[in-house]
Amino acid sequence: MTPTGAAYLKEVRSFLDSHVFPAEPGVMAKPFKESLPLLAELRAEVKKRGLWAPHLPESLGGRGMTLGEFAHVSALLGESPIGHYLFNCQAPDIGNSELLHDHGTAEQKATWLEPLARGDIRSCFSMTEPEFAGSNPVWMGTTAVRDGDDYVINGHKWFISSAEGSAFTIVMAVTDPNAAPHKRASQIIVPMTAPGITLVRNISTFGHAGSDWMSHAELRYENVRVPVTNILGHEGDGFMLAQERLGPGRIHHCMRWLGICERAFRLMCQRAVSRELSPGEPLGNQQAVQFWIAESRAEMDAARLLVLDTAAQIESRGAHEARERISLIKFHVAGVLQRVLDRAIQVHGALGVTDDTPLAGWYAHERAARIYDGPDEVHKASVARRILKEYGLPSRKRGKE
Ligand SMILES: Cc1cc2nc3c(=O)[nH]c(=O)nc-3n(C[C@H](O)[C@H](O)[C@H](O)COP(=O)(O)OP(=O)(O)OC[C@H]3O[C@@H](n4cnc5c(N)ncnc54)[C@H](O)[C@@H]3O)c2cc1C
Repeated sequence: MTPTGAAYLKEVRSFLDSHVFPAEPGVMAKPFKESLPLLAELRAEVKKRGLWAPHLPESLGGRGMTLGEFAHVSALLGESPIGHYLFNCQAPDIGNSELLHDHGTAEQKATWLEPLARGDIRSCFSMTEPEFAGSNPVWMGTTAVRDGDDYVINGHKWFISSAEGSAFTIVMAVTDPNAAPHKRASQIIVPMTAPGITLVRNISTFGHAGSDWMSHAELRYENVRVPVTNILGHEGDGFMLAQERLGPGRIHHCMRWLGICERAFRLMCQRAVSRELSPGEPLGNQQAVQFWIAESRAEMDAARLLVLDTAAQIESRGAHEARERISLIKFHVAGVLQRVLDRAIQVHGALGVTDDTPLAGWYAHERAARIYDGPDEVHKASVARRILKEYGLPSRKRGKE
C-alpha cells in the first residue's frame, strides 16, 4: 500500500470500531429493509469522512484505488457483514459499476452509473436460470428479440442477489441463438420498473428469505421492452463481459472472505483465552484448539498472499491471462473460509451456533461461496485441465464448454 492507502485503511479501521461493529448486531437481528434509515445515516458519515467508494475513480466521487489497493480495503470491510454496503462497494453493484464504467455509453453512464456511484440507487445482475445449469454460462433460455428500436425480453431468472429495491438490472439474454455458443448472449440494462418484470419471491435460504440488499430473488421477464440502446457493448458480447466482470469480482469476494476469516479468527482466539474448562484452565490450553488456531493463521496468510499476487497478475497481464490463478483462488479461499468459520464455531461451543456472534450467520450465508461465481468443481476442473494440457491431455470433444 502507498502511504495514502495505508492512512485510508487506518481511517476505515477506526470507523469500523466506532460506528460499524456497534451498529452491526441491531442490523443483523432484523430484516435488512428495516435498518435502511440507520444505514443511510452511516453511509452519509462514510461520505463525510471522504472514505466513500474506494474502488471508483475520483471523477465519480470515489478514491480511485487500484485493484491491488482495493483488495486490502475489501479484506477490512469484510470483517463486518455490512462493511461493503456502507462504503458503497458491495456486490453486485461493484461489478455493475465496473461494467458500466468500462463499457457504458455516455448516456448509460449518466442514467445509471452516476446515481449508482452516489449511492442513490442499487442494481442487480440477472444471469442464472432455474431451468439451466448455471455452471454452464453459455446455456440459457432467456431471449432478447429485436423489434424495431426495442429488445423484447422473455425469461426466468433466479438467485438474483439484491433485486428487491434495485433500480435496474443487467440481464444476460440470448440475442442470436444461431451464433457460436460464446457469442449468443448479450447484456442489456433493464429498469426494474419496466412493465413485464415480476419479482416472484425472495428465495428463502437456510430459513431466511432476507430483504432488500440482503436477498436473492426469483424474477420473471414477460415481454419486457427496452430500447436497443440499453445494450452493454455489442450484441454477442454477453459472455465476454460476464468473464470480464468475474475477474476482479473474484478478488473482491476472496478478500471479503479473508476479512470474515480475520474476524472469526479474532473471536476464536478471544474465546480460547476467556473460556475456562475448569478454574484457571482456559480452552486455549487444549492442543486441539491450538492446532485450529495455528492452521487457520497459516491458511489465511497463505491465501491472502495468493489473492494479492493474483490481483497483481490481473493488473499486469489482464484477467484473461490470469484466469487460471483466478480459478485457483476462488475455490481455495472459499475452502479456507469454510474451515476457519467451522473451527471458530467449534471453539465457541453452543454460543457458536447462536446469533449472538456473527459466526453462525456467516456459516450459513457464506456456504454459498463454494457455489456462486462458479462452483468449486468447475474451477478445480478448469485449473487441472490447463495444467494437464501442458502434459499433453487432448481437448475434450463435447458440444458445450
Ligand atoms: C447466494 C447466491 C447468490 C447468487 N447471486 C447471483 C446473482 O446475483 N446473479 C446471478 O445471475 N446468479 C447468482 N447466483 C447463482 C450462481 O451463479 C449459480 O448458483 C452458480 O453459477 C451455479 O449454478 P447452479 O446453481 O445452476 O448449479 P449447477 O450448474 O446445477 O451445478 C450444481 C453442482 O454441480 C456440480 N458441477 C457443476 N458443473 C460441474 C463440472 N463441470 N464438473 C464437476 N461438477 C460440476 C457442482 O458441484 C455444482 O455445485 C447466486 C447463487 C447463490 C447461491
